Amino acid sequence: MIIYSEPFDKWKCVYKKCNAHCCVEGREVTQGDIERIAKATGLNPNEFADLEDKRGLFKLKGKSGKCFFLDGNSCTLHEKGAKPIFCQMFPFKFEGIIYADEIFLKVSVIKDCPGFDEDVEIPEDFEIKIEELGSKFIKEIKDFQRIEEKNGT
Ligand code: SF4
Ligand code: SF4
Repeated sequence: MIIYSEPFDKWKCVYKKCNAHCCVEGREVTQGDIERIAKATGLNPNEFADLEDKRGLFKLKGKSGKCFFLDGNSCTLHEKGAKPIFCQMFPFKFEGIIYADEIFLKVSVIKDCPGFDEDVEIPEDFEIKIEELGSKFIKEIKDFQRIEEKNGT
């Protein structure tokens, strides 16, 4: 994972203050995210995700520009334990993927995030958790590609 960010030690997601600024249409998800969401909600993946991508990076659909799963300022997947990997990586946002022999995920911090103004120390294991989530995201993209290759598509 490639992180474009200065280290920081204070941050908290204050989504009510920013009207869930990050919860916009097109949030990046993996096939694993889609399966977990479908299982938790009973929805058909076509209802909430754009399934066109053949390389394993999909996008959530939206409602009036905001994320399909946003209700007011709250994520309806949170309580269901089905929040997408990337949404657990706030305050980092997706910058891109490099598809090479290895897959690299590029992330940067959300610059205008009001959570950096909060005097809240991040947990000790915060960086480890972000790295683990990034690795899981890449692994699920690789898993998807492996299955596609096996199916000869
Ligand atoms: S990460 Fe920052 S900008 Fe995004 S929803 Fe949380 S507080 Fe708002
Ligand atoms: S899935 Fe939830 S956390 Fe992720 S963008 Fe949508 S509403 Fe926000």
